[in-house]
Amino acid sequence: MHVLLVEDDAPLAESISSAMRARGWRADVSARGEPVPASLMQDPYDALVLDIGLPGIDGLETLRRVRAQGSMLPVLMLTARDAIEDRVLGLERGADDYLVKPFALAELLARLHALVRRHEQRQSQTLELAQLRFDTVGRRAQIGDQPLHLSARECVVLQYLMLKTGQVVARDQLTGLIPDWAPGSSDNALELVMSRLRAKIEPAGVRLRTVRGLGYLLEATPAG
Ligand code: CA
Repeated sequence: MHVLLVEDDAPLAESISSAMRARGWRADVSARGEPVPASLMQDPYDALVLDIGLPGIDGLETLRRVRAQGSMLPVLMLTARDAIEDRVLGLERGADDYLVKPFALAELLARLHALVRRHEQRQSQTLELAQLRFDTVGRRAQIGDQPLHLSARECVVLQYLMLKTGQVVARDQLTGLIPDWAPGSSDNALELVMSRLRAKIEPAGVRLRTVRGLGYLLEATPAG
């Protein structure tokens, strides 16, 4: 699980993030809200933990911007102010849960875990592009009614590209999804995965383009 924690209280941020790491989660910490929307576009996080009282734009405004860009990421708000208005506002703006400081770290982890589980269940869906279908729960791809046989690598890469249809996805984003990817692997190693995937999916009426110097883009083949 990969969590973005936005908390300007450095000792608190450190104790939360080390508790997450102790559980085997990855935790990135930001002390400010401004960079959060861009960070979420770049990295595939599983959840956002957002303090309300932040320097610069506060947690509520950060949340509004995150939701405004269409992110459905589970969000747990933290507030030192035990004020009903903050909680109501947070929930209205699309927070999934909140915790009032001080809280037990174990409770934070348990609530976050529950949020992510619920989110994954809601996400159970089929992604579709032209004749290509991808079941995000069963992690199965089909062209029309025909199952498509994919390697584990091709499978994670395809799911992500389908979620980002029409957008250029950087090479690093894709290699970051592959659990056993060796950091020193050459660009050719990814290109090999992509060319095999391309050959399998193109009969579905989709096109997997290499955007030189940037990454890859999946789109429907233009008609005609
Ligand atoms: Ca704060």
